[in-house]
Amino acid sequence: MDSQSPSPEASGSDPREPALEHYDVLFVGAGLSGVGAAYHLQKGSPGRNYVILEGREAIGGTWDLFRYPGIRSDSDMYTLGYSFRPWEEAKAIADGPSILRYVNDTADHYDQSALIRFRHQVKRADWSSAEARWIVEAERTDTKEKVRFSCDWLHMCSGYYNYKDVYDPEFEGRDSFRGTIVHPQFWPEVLDYSGKKVVVIGSGATAVTIVPEMARTAGHVVMLQRSPTYMVSRPSEDGIANFLRKVLPSKVAYGITRWKNVLLQMFFFNLARKRPAKVKEKLIDELRKMLPEGYDVGTHFTPSYNPWDQRLCLVPDADMFESIKAGRASIVTGKIDRFCPEGIRLENGELLEADIIVTATGLKVQLLSDVAFTVDDEPRNISEALLYRGMMFSEVPNLSYSFGYTNASWTLKADLTGGYLTRLLNHLDKTGTQIALPAREPGIEEVPFLDFTSGYVQRARDILPKQGSKKPWKLYQNYALDMLSLKFASVEDGVIRFLPRGAPAAAERDRTLEAA
Ligand SMILES: Cc1cc2nc3c(=O)[nH]c(=O)nc-3n(C[C@H](O)[C@H](O)[C@H](O)COP(=O)(O)OP(=O)(O)OC[C@H]3O[C@@H](n4cnc5c(N)ncnc54)[C@H](O)[C@@H]3O)c2cc1C
Repeated sequence: MDSQSPSPEASGSDPREPALEHYDVLFVGAGLSGVGAAYHLQKGSPGRNYVILEGREAIGGTWDLFRYPGIRSDSDMYTLGYSFRPWEEAKAIADGPSILRYVNDTADHYDQSALIRFRHQVKRADWSSAEARWIVEAERTDTKEKVRFSCDWLHMCSGYYNYKDVYDPEFEGRDSFRGTIVHPQFWPEVLDYSGKKVVVIGSGATAVTIVPEMARTAGHVVMLQRSPTYMVSRPSEDGIANFLRKVLPSKVAYGITRWKNVLLQMFFFNLARKRPAKVKEKLIDELRKMLPEGYDVGTHFTPSYNPWDQRLCLVPDADMFESIKAGRASIVTGKIDRFCPEGIRLENGELLEADIIVTATGLKVQLLSDVAFTVDDEPRNISEALLYRGMMFSEVPNLSYSFGYTNASWTLKADLTGGYLTRLLNHLDKTGTQIALPAREPGIEEVPFLDFTSGYVQRARDILPKQGSKKPWKLYQNYALDMLSLKFASVEDGVIRFLPRGAPAAAERDRTLEAA
């Protein structure tokens, strides 16, 4: 049997139950993170077999789901790309189809595609300490059939938002609007907007992408925002990266550019945290230069919060400002009173006429999909757990997940997480143990998972796990510190316990509490 073949095993004592397919590692999700994590397992722990369960019919997650006009990255591909696979296209800020191609090519290159089970939506996962394994139940989205697998380790790469549901505030009078209402997450296959009046509600990365793109052919596009967001313009191509690629081997050039961008990003983030007033002034001065003379920058481009209290919006090649200068797009800052047949009526009485309204109002955050977890028959609510090294949960054995940075590219962290997972698995082998359990230490102060003030983060506060006030429970949002913690620090840190099959997770928790 080759190392990737499942081992059929009897599922417990009931002989009437069908044999389960057993895998060493089961990944949930075949997006950027799932494909990356599978690569790390193949490379770092090559003897292990695995399967990827994917609810949709395609690889790529976010980059396959979103189809709105202009869909692109808002961070550079030298850091959003994998550490192990150079991004070789000219554009650093890439369009969605190119990113999707990159993820697909990576999966093909490492022979993963055959190991992905599409249309398998994972619904529940039950851990047994006696057997030291998860039983994972998925529903086939085509036949509704329930399918079960068992695995030694479960790694969730399910992203951070709900694929089926979005944040869509109840605007009064919505049904009275005569035109078309679209949410960017569910963009229709055909939507002709040429010559049409469009209002895009929102001021985040999605709105800032859609507005200049639609403005190319629409009659006029208004970006309607309740309050402004920080924007920063950068060229979509990285001159240094493209030069380096000409004179150096692709991998070397990619590595240099990746580190350049990591360090620059860390520098600007830290500067914004240390000297917010100065950075705010600089950002707004830069914008003023790109907007028409006398433009009301105070109202439309000056947020009330500090830079990096929310994610900065990237405007590649100043496209948003070009469309404003050309009169093809404009910004209105105000509050919606109601939708009406002709468009949107604002609280100040102004009417924004529209044929199409795009509600770029945001995602619905969801961690670990909506999978129901139990540990030795006890339901576990992940929102009550403390994060361990930003990738496992207190008192939940052999479960990890990929979650990227809020202040840098997602993949930087997802890559480190994938690498650390293989270190943990290899450590289990080395110590002859089967269970890795982050045991909650007494006296650790709980801190919110994310410190962003963005609406989507605040709305999700109650469903997110907490981080702790100190190592290894603290979430750094810093690539260099995470590299030390996940790549170089010993996996034996006195907090995570490596236990033999049969050591019940609950007993370990009780022992911890007693010690407290
Ligand atoms: C429009 C948009 C633009 C973005 N741009 C950037 C950017 O420029 N830079 C950046 O760093 N980040 C960006 N992000 C964040 C982005 O989501 C990540 O960069 C990255 O794509 C996440 O990859 P992922 O594989 O972890 O999750 P996803 O891309 O969300 O993929 C998750 C996969 O898991 C599957 N799945 C989920 N639950 C289950 C389940 N229960 N059972 C089976 N399968 C399941 C989904 O179907 C999906 O295929 C952006 C996000 C959006 C929405």
